[in-house]
Amino acid sequence: MRKGYFGDFGGCFVPELLMPPLMELEQAMAAILPSEAFQSELRSLLKDFAGRETPLTFCPALSQELGFELWLKREDLLHTGAHKINNTLGQALLAKHMGKSALIAETGAGQHGVAAAAAAARLGLRCTIYMGAEDVERQSANVRRIKLLGAAVRPVESGSRTLKDAINAALRAWISEQADTHYCFGTAAGPYPFPDLVREFQSVIGREARAQMLERTGALPDYAVAAVGGGSNAIGMFAPFVEDESVRLIGVEAGGTGEPGCLHSAAINFGRPGVLHGEYTMLLQDEDGQILPSGSISAGLDYPGVGPEHAFLHRSGRVKYGIAYDHEALAAFQKLCRAEGILPALESSHALAWVLEHREEFRPGSRVLVNLSGRGDKDMDIIERALGA
Ligand SMILES: *Cc1c(COP(=O)(O)O)cnc(C)c1O
Repeated sequence: MRKGYFGDFGGCFVPELLMPPLMELEQAMAAILPSEAFQSELRSLLKDFAGRETPLTFCPALSQELGFELWLKREDLLHTGAHKINNTLGQALLAKHMGKSALIAETGAGQHGVAAAAAAARLGLRCTIYMGAEDVERQSANVRRIKLLGAAVRPVESGSRTLKDAINAALRAWISEQADTHYCFGTAAGPYPFPDLVREFQSVIGREARAQMLERTGALPDYAVAAVGGGSNAIGMFAPFVEDESVRLIGVEAGGTGEPGCLHSAAINFGRPGVLHGEYTMLLQDEDGQILPSGSISAGLDYPGVGPEHAFLHRSGRVKYGIAYDHEALAAFQKLCRAEGILPALESSHALAWVLEHREEFRPGSRVLVNLSGRGDKDMDIIERALGA
């Protein structure tokens, strides 16, 4: 494959002024990531600071009800509550080895902002988080967390004042701050080399889960399922299984309310190829190529695009991309809480919802592995409002 491309998708469509820091990052990845010094430092951060390895949890009650084995990879148990810390620790450590003294990052719901601020504090880096002004108002708890962790929050007033605009603002800021600053991108998307870099740091999910399934069941799972926002937890789960032909891989996009004309975030199912945030990928756009607003009950899935490797894995047929709607995710959330004693994030609830909605398709006794990307405490207000309505 062409460097930086996944089939036709990916690439690096950025202003000339952003090429130097992206090329510096590419070179640093090649020089620093393979070194034993970097890898052992990262291993110890992931273990002693973030809480890896995460458990693989068998769900006895749901498995009995469904007639197949349901296994959860517990990324919800990580420090800061989701898989995002795998990526921010990796990138913050890389930035430090590159001699940088500061991080910038974008955030939508605030989860990546919190994880970036925590990694920056731990590694002694200054940190600035770009966040759409609309999101600053909607996600005040995470704004407060980010500030308590010592990072600055820059509200972005342009465009729709949400994640898409925060990414544009952070990329612009990087142009003038590249000498001492690393841009810690939050998902497996954006210009090359970010999709590769984020997959590298998130693949620990799939590597661990693969070994844990083999140890516990003596076999690989028949299915591995993950929710897809930008695509980082999903590619982290899928990448170590892509060569295992017997393992069916399912990405789940957010379908919104499911009413005709509703906002949703299903860029693979309902989008078309185009360029956004420096990459060629599947996007929600109108006939003139204007990006359409996305929506979901789950703030972390609310993004009008998707990482380019997912666009490729969809086109090649290796991964199937389904949809779960808001009410299905809510039902799955409640089910997991009561049946298994786990409060999943609304994002992860979409992955679980797809499994519950398609239960008839699984052969009895199948082993189904779901990535539980995060914990649901952050979503309690939204969930109580939705269930009350
Ligand atoms: C941010 C987030 C997601 C979506 O982002 P991806 O890059 O697609 O993984 C999913 N689950 C949780 C818990 C999140 O915080």
